[in-house]
Amino acid sequence: MSVNYAAGLSPYADKGICGLPEIFDSSEELKTKVESMAQWIRDSQYMVVHSGAGISTSTGIPDFRGPKGVWTMEERGETPHFNTTFEDARPSLTHMALLQLQRAGHLKYLISQNVDGLHLRSGFPRDRLSELHGNMFVEECEKCGKQYVRDAVIGVMGLKPTGRYCDVTRSRGLRSCRGKLISTILDWEDSLPERDLNRAEEACRRADLALTLGTSLQIKPSGDLPLLTKRTGGKVVIVNLQTTKHEKHAHLRIYGYVDEVMGHLMKLLGLENPDWTGPTLCETSGGDLDILPFGAWKKEVKIELKIEENKDTVPKRRKKRKADSERNVEKDVKVEKEVKKEDKEATSASKYKDDVFSDAIPIKTQNLGSLNGSSKNSLCSSDVNSTLTETSDENKNTDECSS
Ligand SMILES: [Zn+2]
Repeated sequence: MSVNYAAGLSPYADKGICGLPEIFDSSEELKTKVESMAQWIRDSQYMVVHSGAGISTSTGIPDFRGPKGVWTMEERGETPHFNTTFEDARPSLTHMALLQLQRAGHLKYLISQNVDGLHLRSGFPRDRLSELHGNMFVEECEKCGKQYVRDAVIGVMGLKPTGRYCDVTRSRGLRSCRGKLISTILDWEDSLPERDLNRAEEACRRADLALTLGTSLQIKPSGDLPLLTKRTGGKVVIVNLQTTKHEKHAHLRIYGYVDEVMGHLMKLLGLENPDWTGPTLCETSGGDLDILPFGAWKKEVKIELKIEENKDTVPKRRKKRKADSERNVEKDVKVEKEVKKEDKEATSASKYKDDVFSDAIPIKTQNLGSLNGSSKNSLCSSDVNSTLTETSDENKNTDECSS
């Protein structure tokens, strides 16, 4: 199917700041900056990467707020260009570099806002990945939570039923779950998947280096997660062509194409990018999963997401995200309290504490980015049932996972 999928989402007026001009470091500046970044990665004990739509533009999937982004074009009354389908899109140099960084032990956890499935299809291990806005190829049982990774896109969005049912066997093999399967793609006001968000927060608090790639950091809470790392004394590196919401919180700001930056970085680290040989599913990373057991290292003060439930309009396991601006203000106040507590230990972050959460670019909205386009029915009319095969099994690990 086409990468045009906004037809499945509700209309939403305020999509953030779109179409900012792109800025480019000179080649000399870029070189020096990437050398600094490489050294920080060598020194890092726990690096987390945050990825946004900008890392997929070179695969033919447009971003949202870039000069030719989906929402930018929509604002101008123009139609964005789609050069591929989700199924045909190949992981970019950046996707493969992230896989190699994980295998080499540099990258401990990856947090993505992208729904295109390219991290998963590149073979990035699922137990080190949070897909905060869902995945076009993944559907989930609303009863038992089992996720199914498919070969083709699911075809519906907004946590809606896909028309298929869970086949997990229960009661000593006598009865199957038969729960409804739903899309994992969020609509504008859906809350983030709890497990993925919790794990992402844990990783961010633990990290000593946060690298953000191809995201304007405008969407909450995903865009604010790198600040958790800064708050616990870690460094923040932002790679993006346009200015982002958290420019002044970055210890290093790189204006360049992510593929160029990552290509240069890999050379400096002496790593080769693996070839992509087709969609690969990797459930676990094998070695010690140092982010687990979940919650084991968690600090005393935890950010609580204030979410009101609205059982009428959303599946039971999801909570409705309401009164976004109020909730975010509450959250920010909590975080500021937390900053004060942690300042004693986070000495290297102390000189930045005054400007934490004073936005460089005023955020207009809490929203979920999505691709958009002109054909209203292209998504739901996609005939995917005939091509779906289950490729995921929670207990199954594939050979391709081994590094
Ligand atoms: Zn189930």
